[in-house]
Amino acid sequence: MATDRDPGKYIRRNVRDMDGYTPGEQPSDPDVIKLNTNENPYPPSPAINAVLENLALAKMRRYPDPLATELRTAIAQLHGCGIDHVFAGNGSDEVLALCLRAFVEAYGSAGYFEPSYSLYPVLAAIHDVETRPVPLTDDFGWNMPSDYQASLFFLTQPNAPTGLIYPREQVESFCDNFDGIIVIDEAYVDFAARDCMDLALSRSNVLVARSFSKSYSLAGIRLGYLVGNPSLIAALYKIKDSYNINQLTQRIGLAAVRDSAYMESNCERIIATRKRVADSLQDMDFEVYPTQTNFLWVRPCRTPALTLFEELKKERIFVRHFPGEVTGEFLRITVGTDAEMDSFLAAVRRCQT
Ligand code: PMP
Repeated sequence: MATDRDPGKYIRRNVRDMDGYTPGEQPSDPDVIKLNTNENPYPPSPAINAVLENLALAKMRRYPDPLATELRTAIAQLHGCGIDHVFAGNGSDEVLALCLRAFVEAYGSAGYFEPSYSLYPVLAAIHDVETRPVPLTDDFGWNMPSDYQASLFFLTQPNAPTGLIYPREQVESFCDNFDGIIVIDEAYVDFAARDCMDLALSRSNVLVARSFSKSYSLAGIRLGYLVGNPSLIAALYKIKDSYNINQLTQRIGLAAVRDSAYMESNCERIIATRKRVADSLQDMDFEVYPTQTNFLWVRPCRTPALTLFEELKKERIFVRHFPGEVTGEFLRITVGTDAEMDSFLAAVRRCQT
């Protein structure tokens, strides 16, 4: 009988063998201080309220605009480019996945730095393509091997989980010399001093990916985009799901982009809190890396990272610990509100004494 057959044999070999992406924990307890997934502690633009108040049920019968035209026009205006330079997706995760699908042949390869965003190897495993990770140096910088090649390279700038920004000349020279697609993943760039958008608008093999999840405080609506050469953008439009961004997300995203000044003021608040927390942790003998993101990458020197992670969890404060030889000694701490960070610092003081 068909019901006796092992369902495993119908699953593609690479899917059977791979591990999926592990997202940070989303606790149901509302009292948890959640500093583990780099969400923004402040609400998104109040202009979005008007979108929600004017929701018309009748409109939901219809499919959304498959090309998200109004939203992409607003994003294009923000970056001073044409709409044909912009691809919008269901979170930047979708955008990254589509890049791999569009630009890497089955016999091709995907590169990225280690450590960086742990989704990249998962995307490569889904497509069953070879990975060519480049380990970061001890100080989390890089020296690209001179004979390095890959079909596509994910360059996270600023990097996650280290929070660091790479020197501009190094990134630019890599873009000029690499014979493949470079996706510069700028999910955290609104918290940084500079970006690489000009590289995407001037180099035919460079794409810049952005997210609404962090700086715009909109992780819940799933919206991201990519800027780059129109031929590459058109290739992505051929392969995306027909209606990849729902109506509501398109309208909320549009309101958020039109009020990008509000997003910037939230980023400034977070940057101020980030400085204060970094100084306090340094005073408690933490090694604190000079972050350009909404999180801190720190090495606790008095207590092992994993112990501190567990102690904080007992106090219902969630931060992120990445097990592993290089990352296991560190914690990644999302910058929350001032009050949340005061509670966090007080808990660290208690745990360390
Ligand atoms: N890139 C990096 C470096 C990230 O850390 C994340 C968030 N986990 C993403 C992309 C994905 O963001 P989004 O919510 O837009 O899919």
